[in-house]
Amino acid sequence: MVHETITQQRTFFATDATKDIAFRVAQLERLHQVVRDHEKQLCDAIYADFGKSPHETYMTELALFYHEVKTAIRKLRKWSKPRRVFTGLANFPARSYIQPEPYGTVLIIGAWNYPYQLTLVPLVAALAAGNTAVIKPSELPARTAQALAEVVAMVFPSEQVAVVQGGVEVTTTLLEERWDKIFFTGSTAVGKLVYHAAARYLTPITLELGGKSPAIVLRDCDVAMTAKRLVWAKLLNAGQTCVAPDYVLIERPVYDQVVAAIKKEMEQYPQQASAMGENYLRIINERHTDRLAALIQTSQVTFGGAVDRGQRFVAPTLVEEVRWEDPIMQEEIFGPVLPVMPFDDLETEIQRIREGAKPLSLYVYSNDHHRIGRVMKRIPFGGGCVNDSNMHLSNSRLPFGGVGESGMGSYHGYHGFVNFSHMKGILHKAFWLETPIKYAPYTSWKRKLIEWLVE
Ligand code: NAD
Repeated sequence: MVHETITQQRTFFATDATKDIAFRVAQLERLHQVVRDHEKQLCDAIYADFGKSPHETYMTELALFYHEVKTAIRKLRKWSKPRRVFTGLANFPARSYIQPEPYGTVLIIGAWNYPYQLTLVPLVAALAAGNTAVIKPSELPARTAQALAEVVAMVFPSEQVAVVQGGVEVTTTLLEERWDKIFFTGSTAVGKLVYHAAARYLTPITLELGGKSPAIVLRDCDVAMTAKRLVWAKLLNAGQTCVAPDYVLIERPVYDQVVAAIKKEMEQYPQQASAMGENYLRIINERHTDRLAALIQTSQVTFGGAVDRGQRFVAPTLVEEVRWEDPIMQEEIFGPVLPVMPFDDLETEIQRIREGAKPLSLYVYSNDHHRIGRVMKRIPFGGGCVNDSNMHLSNSRLPFGGVGESGMGSYHGYHGFVNFSHMKGILHKAFWLETPIKYAPYTSWKRKLIEWLVE
């Protein structure tokens, strides 16, 4: 079945229909319209799966998709044009250009935490670049995956875009196939399996993974604003956000003030399952609820800590006096639990972060440009913000992606188009002149001329 779909997509791709820019624009326009028309169906499904309200679904999933699809529709002609580049005298007379070319049939594997955003935004890029696509959404929010499959099937015949639903087994089957590109969003552990599978056919791959993203709060920050932005970023999606600040390092002179401000912000959120309402999410399943409950079974909790397994509720929770060797510092938290640590010497913290896996995101809160620059330049990480958290991914002009264990490759806006394109470099030479310098016999004047022309 899967193999058949891929074969159909390959046959369709081979017709070169997707090379036509007007065809791609029409595909994107249809996708945009059908998603808009079925926004309620999509919102209902995700609300049923993990309590994400229509407002939050729009804000954190669909708005990003709408922005991406509208940008691609507007910019596609420009993006897909061959781009002239300078040729240089050594190749005179010639012109050089970069011709974007679709890879072919691509596989997009999504994570569960932003199930629409993490499948539809890569899909926009894949279609804009002229590919056909198979989407494998996460199976965990089952109604959401079903709603996505239904909406996509309304827009595209499966020879252009198909949604294949299922868990590990289905993904494993999909990964046995030959793809022209794989785009995976998920955990680092599964990312390694996907990378391994891609190696079999040397398939180009993008890995959008996770990890522990630090926030560093320096002594000259605006304390109230820092706490407000940090807590919002941490508690969005009940902490189930890949770029959420995982833990916070606070410079000692402002530690007490920042912690008090964080608690004040956390008070605005529900402390018990009965107060959850529309604005606070459930944890995706009981397994993850139990995992988070185990992490906060410690006397270091100084705020929150309530867990309701039946309701899959974990309260906003602050953990203090945390040490680097504590269990909470060994894995990505992926929930509304915030460990904080005071520090005395910025240099020591920079070194410590550099010794670990390269984070997906990093945030620094300060007005001291010199120290901000030090943090930004000296720590490798995927992307981040100064004086905010999470929001870098809302600017589609910035490439979004990880580095090292947090991933490889990036997307959003033009970067997504590039991600799903092979950039062909072409030198186009004229017939009317040929100098003898590259031909034997190799003489010293030829060598000198090459030095002058090339270096
Ligand atoms: P996951 O790795 O468990 O699952 C991701 C996808 O892989 C799912 O579609 C799942 O069905 C499939 N899968 C799971 N196990 C598999 C296996 N053994 N073999 C083949 N396929 C398998 O990740 P998740 O729990 O859905 O998402 C959470 C993780 O994703 C977190 O680490 C988070 O940081 C990361 N994430 C990263 C980004 C990003 O943009 N960088 C965005 C969202 C989530």
